[in-house]
Amino acid sequence: TLTLLYKLNKLSPSAFPLAPGATPKYNDKISLIRTDITKLKADAIVNAANESLLGGGGVDGAIHSAAGPHLKRECRTLDGCDTGDAKITDAYELPCKKVIHAVGPVYRPTKRQGMHTTLLSGCYTRSLDLAVESGCRSIAFSALSTGVYGYPSEEAAETAIAAVAGWLEEDEARAARLERVVFCSFLQKDERAYEKFIPMFFPPA
Ligand code: ADP
Repeated sequence: TLTLLYKLNKLSPSAFPLAPGATPKYNDKISLIRTDITKLKADAIVNAANESLLGGGGVDGAIHSAAGPHLKRECRTLDGCDTGDAKITDAYELPCKKVIHAVGPVYRPTKRQGMHTTLLSGCYTRSLDLAVESGCRSIAFSALSTGVYGYPSEEAAETAIAAVAGWLEEDEARAARLERVVFCSFLQKDERAYEKFIPMFFPPA
């Protein structure tokens, strides 16, 4: 079970130096970091993209400006991406190796919550699939849909962590191909939400 597989072991800060000053927390598989995702040296970083994949504001804008114009050129060849799905590109001038562009749902409180959860969850599992298919050993997720797309931080964090935990548990051999999954938050409200839900899905030893 997850409890047996992912006991909490505090890592020393030097164990996985993704970014200067960033201290990975939680266990030997899961990290929580609050930093600018464009600085991370994870094999793959996950962008909160929109269906056009042609760039936008927020983390998408930061990733495109740090990657340089070749990223947009490659994105133009992809013919967009459905909500709940993801596509992978090279990373150009970024320190990571690949960028996974995931399209999270716009949060609309009038719609059924189950649909939001399925779409957001799909972004995480599709991104994990793409990462292992491309030989990535580490992946860092931005807090998909929690910015302009309006998703409440706690609901988004719970869905994100549940999706990753479920994916890791589903296939042990596949999970072993990933050394590290990083939840990269930018705002304190999102970091707090991860701190609340990570121990529920990855319980302390
Ligand atoms: P969405 O449209 O999916 O809501 P946003 O880019 O508006 O996408 O926000 C997604 C998340 O990315 C938010 O939690 C926001 O605080 C965060 N974010 C913004 N800039 C960065 C950055 N440079 N690195 C990491 N996360 C960022």
